[in-house]
This record gives sequence, structure tokens and C-alpha cells, in this order.
Amino acid sequence: MRLTFYGAAETVTGSCALLSAGKGAQLLVDCGMFQGSAALRDRNDDPFPFDPGSIDGLVLTHAHIDHSGLLPRLVREGFKGRIYATRATSDLCRILLMDTAHIQAADAQWQNRRRLRAGQPPVLPLYTTEDVERCFRFFNGVGYGERVEAGGGVDLTFRDAGHILGSSFVEVRAKAGKTSRTIVFSGDLGMRNRPLLNDPELPAEADFVVIESTYGNRRHKDREASLDELAAAIRETVERGGNVLIPAFAVGRTQEVLFEIQHLTRQGRIPRLHLYVDSPLAIAATEIYLRHRESLDEETRALLERRDAPGPRPTLHLVESVEESRALNRVESGAIIVAASGMCEGGRIVHHLKHNLWRPECSIVFVGFQSRGTLGRQIVDGAESVSVLGEEIAVRARVHTIGSFSAHADQAELLWWLGHFTNPALRVLVNHGEPDAARALAGQIRKAHPWRVRVPRAGESLEV
Ligand SMILES: [Zn+2]
Repeated sequence: MRLTFYGAAETVTGSCALLSAGKGAQLLVDCGMFQGSAALRDRNDDPFPFDPGSIDGLVLTHAHIDHSGLLPRLVREGFKGRIYATRATSDLCRILLMDTAHIQAADAQWQNRRRLRAGQPPVLPLYTTEDVERCFRFFNGVGYGERVEAGGGVDLTFRDAGHILGSSFVEVRAKAGKTSRTIVFSGDLGMRNRPLLNDPELPAEADFVVIESTYGNRRHKDREASLDELAAAIRETVERGGNVLIPAFAVGRTQEVLFEIQHLTRQGRIPRLHLYVDSPLAIAATEIYLRHRESLDEETRALLERRDAPGPRPTLHLVESVEESRALNRVESGAIIVAASGMCEGGRIVHHLKHNLWRPECSIVFVGFQSRGTLGRQIVDGAESVSVLGEEIAVRARVHTIGSFSAHADQAELLWWLGHFTNPALRVLVNHGEPDAARALAGQIRKAHPWRVRVPRAGESLEV
């Protein structure tokens, strides 16, 4: 039996691993897109390092594009197996992949106008909305805790990972000849005690665990300290007469930010403000969250059932059309604008940055991880000016980074979760982290446990 790491090895995006457990048991875990720097994004065009037609099944841990983004291409290039995912993941995946297909069509169109003028042949988008539609024929909805036969002597159990709606870590039990193995793939793990979602479930026994390490070298502040920080940033911005911009992933982070701003308003910790969700995708994702209440935590379910929750609320504006979004450029103060993309690499947030980033009275509040090479990372790292939509913009707004909003477990939480494995011969494979983060987590695991720990390189294949 072999396990090969094709993506999210030595980096955080492009999650993809192949478990080869004999005939009929070629199982891919995630098929994500590489995101971040141009060099990383170029890898999305590389041919798959395996024949998509030879894959029997695909386990999708959650809907984020860095885990699901190459599925339509996989199907177009011959994959005919089953895709196993929770129903909430499947619903979120549909809107995310459609959005990605639209972005790619627009990008290709833009590039082709230039290429045509330069006498070069046109480029094709990575995939189209038809490709996205086609891949949903292969989806099989799975519930948490269900044991699913995946053929070829493989069975799967999905468990709540508490990262975004529908997110899972997956126990894979496989047999090849006389060898039988249980391998746990952590997917992306969430933090405990977060709003909206349940805490991650505890893992059962395993021979191998593949664990993410996005924040393998960091600790998040606790929720209350972060809420204080967010409230202070908002109050001060209002006093200075500016706007608060919050770049946020449409799925997961936006819903959490909305919840917390309502919470702060209700408690009187910030004034009642205009709260704009400027992202049709985030609005659609919020509807899916509401549709899958069974996957939300008790506190949220109770709040949703009680429409008469006490205290003031922000004035919520769901901004769908481009015209409405543009109209926000004229709003000079008193607005909280939540928009995608979370790393400021595209989407409507970029326009809001152009109009607010140079204004010292405004604030940019980062609530998520900023990958190397992204505009968000440049701003967080203290650039004095940045290029936005081809224009040099001075960074004069206050920049805040609020760590605990992360949908990812930090080092302490990852170690806490791992600590529930009791097999002394467990082997730990650390992926989904930048090299420093992965190595730091691996070091801490070695200190605390007798287990063999390895950080696989990209393309590395191990006997399991
Ligand atoms: Zn994720």
C-alpha cells in the first residue's frame, strides 16, 4: 500500500494525496487548487501526475477550493469514480466551483484580448461551468459517523472537523493482501469553542495520521481577546470617520464575522453600524449554512430559532449587484464592508481597497491566513504602498490582524487533537503547511510522543 503526496506538501494549498491499495482501491483524498504566488498557480495547469481514469474514488474533506478546486478538471480528464463528501460540502462545493469557473472564464477572456493583439494563440480556461455541472454526477452524500464501503476493500468514516460547514476528517480503512491499515486524514481542523460550528470530533485509533499544519508554529489569541481587539478597531475607525474593510473568504469566515459583529453590537461593545456583505458568493454560502442547521452548533441553532434575540443589531445589507457594490465607493464612513477574496487576490474587496486603503481614517481588519505572494500578505507585512488594479496605492489605513478568527486549529489545538491517538506505533505525516510551520509542528509532536513523524516532500511516496 502506498501513499503519495501530490499537493499541500511543503505548502498550504493544492491538497491532493493518493492512497494506492491495490486493484479497485486507488483513492484520491482531495483534489485542490494551488493558490497564492504565480509560480504556485501555474501548477494548476500541470498535467495530473496520475491517470484520472485510473482513480476509483475520491474523498473530499471539505469545500474550500484548495481542497476541491481541480475536481472539474479531474472529471473532464477521465475520472469516473465516486466522490464521497458530506451533503453540506457538496452544496458549498457547487457554488464555490461555479464561482471559480466564472473567474477563470473572465481571466481567459482578458488574457485572450491581449494575446490576440500580440498575435498569440488563445488560452482556454482550466474548466467551464459545464465541467462543474458534470462533476456533480459523481457526488455521493455521506453523513458524519456513517461507515461507507468504497469498494476494493476500502471503507470510510467521515467525522466533523469543525473547520467550515460540512468539513470532515476521514478515517480510511484499507486492505491490500495481508496488510490492513487505518489512515486518518485530518483535512483542515477547526478550533474548539468557535461560534457556529461544533468542536472537532476526537479521532479514533489509527496506524497513520496525515495532519495539517497551517498554523503549526503559531498560537491564536483566545476568542474574547480577539473580540475586544475587533471591537476597538471598529470603534476607533468610527471615531476617525472611516470605514472598516474585512477581507474574508466567502465560505466560513464571512459567516463567522457576521455572527461576531452581531454579537458585539447586541452586547453594546460597538455602535449600531451599516454592515455590508459585498459578495454574492458569501450570500449564497450563508443560505447554505442556514439550510444545514443540523450541522451547526447548539448555541447557533438556538439563536436562529429565537428571532427576537434581545439587544440592538447592525443594519445588514446584502450586496448582490455590481451597481450596489460600486455605490459603496461613495460611502465615506460608518460602514463595515465584508468582501471576498480573503487574501485580496480578486473579488470586490480589491475595489474597496482602492477606495479606502490610502485613507488614514479607515481600517483593514484581516481575519484569515494570508499566503505568501498575495496582496493581503503584502499589506500585513507592512508594505508602504501596493499595486491595486494596476494603480499604486499608499497604505495609510490602520492594518489589524486578528488571529483567533482562524478556522484552523493552532499548534496547541493540533497537539491536543493528536494527543487522542493512543497507538504507540502511530506514524504521523505532517502536510498542509509552509515548511517552517510543518517542521515546527513535527518537532513538537516528536517531543511529546514516541511516534515517527515525517514532513513529506511534494511528490513523495511512502509505503504504508
Ligand atoms: Zn479549508
